[in-house]
Amino acid sequence: MAEDATIALVTGANKGIGRAIAGQLAGRGLTVLIGARDPGRGEAAAAELRVDGADAHPVRLDVTDRSSVQAAAAEIGRRYGRLDVLVNNAGISGSGDRGPGEDGGQSPGRVNLDVVRTVFETNVFGVIAVTDAMLPLLRRSLAARIVNVSSGTGSLHWMTDPDFYMSKLPAVAAYPVSKTALNMLTVQYAKALAPDGIPVNAVAPGAVATDFSKNLGMVITRTPDEGARIAVQLATAAPGGPTGGFFNDDGAVPW
Ligand code: NAP
Repeated sequence: MAEDATIALVTGANKGIGRAIAGQLAGRGLTVLIGARDPGRGEAAAAELRVDGADAHPVRLDVTDRSSVQAAAAEIGRRYGRLDVLVNNAGISGSGDRGPGEDGGQSPGRVNLDVVRTVFETNVFGVIAVTDAMLPLLRRSLAARIVNVSSGTGSLHWMTDPDFYMSKLPAVAAYPVSKTALNMLTVQYAKALAPDGIPVNAVAPGAVATDFSKNLGMVITRTPDEGARIAVQLATAAPGGPTGGFFNDDGAVPW
């Protein structure tokens, strides 16, 4: 690792968009910490990136497990003494391995609250837990940044615009609700961290071909590398860049 390398942690980076974010950050010369709840999968992803010349290392991190989150923060503190970039990417749809025509317990009127709680544990409470645990390390950075990987389905504007395709998606009580909550978390953390000069932004990667999307009946238009682009852009934005915003490749996403 170069003495002045920028240290980035990406949660859920062993596959999908998170792995692509980690790869692109490494391509820009950052040291990337591959957050993964399974150490084997984390090391496999890091090893693959190292083949391409990346400075990539696995960090065991289950965002829903308090002791795992604290242990990850302690390990990063011990190894690097600070953290420059946090990308809260780990997320679940809550749909599990549902079959065609099954709603996965998320249909309003037939909601399985356990599914909603599980989705919020990862997509919302996990982000709070990880961000709070990493904040002391982020505050030691000269130019820290936080990026939350949200979703266009978290946009109340898009989901209620009768002319926009997202308003025609089936009603779902967990996943998009969790991403709307994540958007508000982004606004609140941006406000709280403004005095520290730490920008906090949310991004919408678009419909990306990953394990997450393969059973959701979505029309997939993007590769993981394309979905990663906006997160990487904000994670490496020059000082004085935006904070408290919601962005995709086309610019600001309406809340
Ligand atoms: P993915 O391929 O299923 O990857 C999700 C990643 O999150 C995996 O590494 C997974 O680890 C990890 N993860 C899940 N629960 C975790 C936990 N409790 N602790 C730590 N890691 C955990 O999905 P993806 O499409 O790349 O999704 C990444 C993010 O993009 C999510 O926040 C998702 O909501 C968002 N997003 C995706 C799309 C899309 O079209 N794909 C669209 C909009 C937003 P394991 O391998 O251990 O399961």
